[in-house]
Amino acid sequence: MIQIQDLKVSVWEKQILNWVSLEFELGKNYCLLGKNGSGKSTLSSVLMWHPKYEVTSGSISINGEDLLEMEPNERSNAWIFLSFQNIPEIKGVKLSEYLRTIFNISEKGKNPEFADLSPFIFKRFIKKHMQELQIDEAFLDRDLNVWFSGGEKRKIEILQMKLIGPKYIILDEIDSGLDLDAFKTVASMLQSLSSPENSIIIITHYFTILEYIDVDKVFVMKAWNIVKEWGKELAQEISESGFGEV
Ligand code: ADP
Ligand code: MG
Repeated sequence: MIQIQDLKVSVWEKQILNWVSLEFELGKNYCLLGKNGSGKSTLSSVLMWHPKYEVTSGSISINGEDLLEMEPNERSNAWIFLSFQNIPEIKGVKLSEYLRTIFNISEKGKNPEFADLSPFIFKRFIKKHMQELQIDEAFLDRDLNVWFSGGEKRKIEILQMKLIGPKYIILDEIDSGLDLDAFKTVASMLQSLSSPENSIIIITHYFTILEYIDVDKVFVMKAWNIVKEWGKELAQEISESGFGEV
């Protein structure tokens, strides 16, 4: 479980989160809803670690351990996966090598005895996953995300999630930049990734994604704080009738 208590965050002395408290439990999915500038991306960046943001008070624990004391690589090591609002393109890094590297690091984190998979073995292993996600094998030889479409980039992210098996998957506005078909495909892939072992946290302006992914709780953020919590039924009702201003 991730427990956030009375969290205050500032950037260059400007306060952008104020007494935020909430919990994420494994086996449940969440939605963080709120207008631009309400602090949603700040909260996700603080969970993953970001040099820009300073936690000035409060605490975040993960399974009872102090998350704020953990290095970013410890946080990512099978714990937290943050899907960025804008996915970076990296020239000179081949997709296959990138995936092999993160897979080997993640497996070593779980079992220090793990012997790295060679490029040859890894390619055989990854192709099975790529077929499931309907990603063309030719992508393996291309540079990471360079000239990939929005939908392709998201599929590659889902492939990474499958490889690492993170517990908490935070998706910051994944709906931006996708057309409806790509959005539906990505949403249904995410739904199939959802399990009692993980928790999907969706950050969005819109309710549409809730039609495709089961969400147990909705948090509404406003002016740098959580102002409302809705259970599943209420969220469903509001998503059908429209929620107006939040
Ligand atoms: P959201 O993701 O909900 O749109 P953000 O978490 O990105 O909101 O931003 C919350 C607030 O923090 C906004 O008012 C934004 O302008 C401010 N903010 C974020 N980063 C900085 C920064 N580097 N300097 C000054 N203000 C910032
Ligand atoms: Mg944002």
